[in-house]
Amino acid sequence: MSGRASLNQSATRLKVGGLTHLSTCDWPGELTATVFCQGCAWDCPYCHNPGLRPATAEGLISWSSVLDFLGSRRNLLDAVVFSGGEPTLQSALLDAIGEVRALGFRVGLHTTGMAPDRFAALLPLLDWVGFDVKAPFATYPRITNVERSGDNALKSLRSLLASCVSYEVRTTVHPSLLSPADMLELKAQLLELGVKHFVVQQFRMQGALPGRLPAAAGIVLPQDYCSGFVHFDTR
Ligand code: SF4
Repeated sequence: MSGRASLNQSATRLKVGGLTHLSTCDWPGELTATVFCQGCAWDCPYCHNPGLRPATAEGLISWSSVLDFLGSRRNLLDAVVFSGGEPTLQSALLDAIGEVRALGFRVGLHTTGMAPDRFAALLPLLDWVGFDVKAPFATYPRITNVERSGDNALKSLRSLLASCVSYEVRTTVHPSLLSPADMLELKAQLLELGVKHFVVQQFRMQGALPGRLPAAAGIVLPQDYCSGFVHFDTR
């Protein structure tokens, strides 16, 4: 039996910059393949995938070859995660997700929420979202280098929390970008929004462009930072 679902012409336009065949960490508890979508409109100094930031690049992976690979992994993997870059910037994502679901996989998405209307349209097709929150929402430009970028992120986060989709909100902390006071402000905002699952990720140099940030020794969490969430973790 052929492993491929019928190829949707819109989905073939998805720009894929990378494919991880097996991951245990992109969706906690699930064995996934991870599709790295090309392109991101923000410019975070700690970006671990700077090669995925341009809207296009050399050596893109065709969507048909991604589907062929996934077809060969049916019953071996639990799910497929779309990551980036920022997957929601691509209009082809919706049809690509539909094809992955047609193969029988559950679908996860890593997003910053920078495209709130498309994100809201995708939510009914998603089983899980890893939602990247950069900072207290009014201070996003300090990290993203894009004016008012927190507005779209907040709109998307509200959509996610109003849906029934499982999620994890996570924030990467570098001490020169987020102070303990910032983190307490962020905690208050997230709790007020109703966030129940929150993970703080420590900045790591691996993959980041050298020279944009000083090396960071570790996270210093305010004493009561983790209280209030149903699930809180650090990585
Ligand atoms: S939003 Fe994500 S992919 Fe885009 S620049 Fe920031 S860290 Fe990199």
